[in-house]
Amino acid sequence: MGDRLYGKLDDNLDGRVDIKSLSFEELKEELAARGEKAFRATQMYEWMHVKLARSFEEMTNLSKSLRAGCEERYTYTSLVPVNVQESKIDGTKKFLFGLADGNVVESVWMKYQHGNSVCISSQVGCRMGCSFCASTLDGLERNLTPSEMLDQIYAITRLTGERVSNVVVMGTGEPMDNYDNLLKFLKLLTDEHGLHISQRNVTVSTCGLVPRMRQLAQEHLQITLALSLHATTDEKRRRLMPIANRYSIEELMDACAYYFEQTGRRITFEYSLVGGVNDREEDARELIELARPLCCHVNLIPVNPIKERDYVQSDKECIIRFKNKLEKNKIAVTIRREMGRDIDGACGQLRRRHMTREAGQV
Ligand code: SAH
Repeated sequence: MGDRLYGKLDDNLDGRVDIKSLSFEELKEELAARGEKAFRATQMYEWMHVKLARSFEEMTNLSKSLRAGCEERYTYTSLVPVNVQESKIDGTKKFLFGLADGNVVESVWMKYQHGNSVCISSQVGCRMGCSFCASTLDGLERNLTPSEMLDQIYAITRLTGERVSNVVVMGTGEPMDNYDNLLKFLKLLTDEHGLHISQRNVTVSTCGLVPRMRQLAQEHLQITLALSLHATTDEKRRRLMPIANRYSIEELMDACAYYFEQTGRRITFEYSLVGGVNDREEDARELIELARPLCCHVNLIPVNPIKERDYVQSDKECIIRFKNKLEKNKIAVTIRREMGRDIDGACGQLRRRHMTREAGQV
């Protein structure tokens, strides 16, 4: 088993084991190999994943020598907020976290009636190249480790003092392009010995890496898979998303059907409405045809214009008309509420602004 030890991935920064990315079983083995008793693993796991300790230093029921040994042998991921913005409209908070290597990632905290939701990043940057998205403008820097994905949630829980009930992997990055780390992250996040977030309250969004969607289906998790569809024909999709040159809509729909078949979980289609590009009557009709056989839920997102591209939002009436047409045809549809519009709303904008500022370009 090549990747038995989660910490031993190439993404690990200095070759040491990334202790917060280890499963409980692996932590037990790791500590046993060091001559530690099994209950130490239970204690440490609890410090990391339940009490959300920021360092070994905080693990006060471990001996000083064990803590010192850990400092030497392991890296301990603990994200530090370098910028926090709070929306005056809806209380949404956008966090920019510093990573150990100086990179930054953004995460968003949203308060809904049904609980608190956190949107996390899965990579530093992205290489998918979707034309309307700010996260991909500078390409991919590196994958996030499982612990770096987790700690976005842990740090936000610590900082807000409120429990997170829902997690969406919809921030910067393509989660399926960081598949192994994503899976380890999902297992840690939903582990009954950790924060124990219900799998049903976790959504992973993909631009449509078909083989990975199929692989995820075979994991038989109860998480929701969201597909960023955004267009109803291959030709139109290719104009917005380079990944459409690789996988056709037909292959995508087969992969979605397979996911449903394997997990019993309905797919969500994300559809960002771009004025004059994908918001016409015929687009709605084609979308209905795609959504109907899959019984999927459609989430309409008014495009959030980024200054590097000249896309515009569809006007309000057009969005409502589009939604009504889907509804009339018995497709479950919602319009995504625009949370935090006043605080660098679109994916990747906060990080980009930070980077240009650092580089003295503002
Ligand atoms: N890479 C993943 C997840 C990240 S983006 C994916 O492609 O699904 C989360 C969602 O926001 C995706 O549906 C993405 O296409 C959409 N998105 C990105 N930038 C946007 C923008 N400026 N306006 C509206 N939606 C956007």
